[in-house]
Amino acid sequence: MFLIYLILTFFAVIAVVVFVVIDNTYGGKVNGPSKHVVFLGLDGLSSRNLHRAKTPNIDFIKNNGAWTSEVSIDPYSNGSGPNWVGVLSGHDSTSSNITDNSCKKPKYSTVMDQLMQVNKTVAVSTQWHDVKCFINKVTYYQDEKRAFTDIPRLINTVHAGYSFVFIHVDNLDFVGHRFSGGSNTYTKEVEKVDNDYVGPLLDYVTHTDGYTLIIASDHGHKLTSKDHSNDPVSLFMYGEGIQKGKIHPMKNVDIYNYLKQLLF
Ligand SMILES: [Zn+2]
Repeated sequence: MFLIYLILTFFAVIAVVVFVVIDNTYGGKVNGPSKHVVFLGLDGLSSRNLHRAKTPNIDFIKNNGAWTSEVSIDPYSNGSGPNWVGVLSGHDSTSSNITDNSCKKPKYSTVMDQLMQVNKTVAVSTQWHDVKCFINKVTYYQDEKRAFTDIPRLINTVHAGYSFVFIHVDNLDFVGHRFSGGSNTYTKEVEKVDNDYVGPLLDYVTHTDGYTLIIASDHGHKLTSKDHSNDPVSLFMYGEGIQKGKIHPMKNVDIYNYLKQLLF
């Protein structure tokens, strides 16, 4: 009998040690507000898609910021509408009233509308013009060409000091629909996005007080066909108010809670 207790105690101690070690690997979190938040929304990039590319700027955030490659997308849709609304309003398609890409106002307000209500400033730069459907009025709005943003203009917008800048980049979704998420063309485009968008934004946030950069995605692309995938996506956060480390696996609607903690 004594031996059985001894063995059980031994395994219980091992279980506690394993739990503590695993839990300590998850140190990434939001610690407090940030004066300015720049949100880079990369349409059509799953963690599997990202993994195939060389992305030194995103790797920098992995090593110095908070991140996870285990963000689950909407339970019923891998469309852009329901997933961006989930991230920006905290409600997935079961409650947001947004189940596809048709242009409708979501049932719950997005973080942009909430900021405007308390007289904070919001800028939107978007290659997907239906983002307009999810917001009422913002301080600055710029439509960009599909899969092409005027980068100097974008950087000027970031420099202007808005409370929140939402940047939607469609390059990867555009290429994924033509060549698949497993194609070399797609992987090269991921590397280009890291260089052309993440690089300059990260550079600005690194050298300017009071700024936080967040990078998230709505869905991925299948490796062998030209469709969206349901695979998990990634989240990266770096700058003011961010404690570095890996973040627990989460749902995309939880990103909204991070935005609230940073912005209000
Ligand atoms: Zn698409």
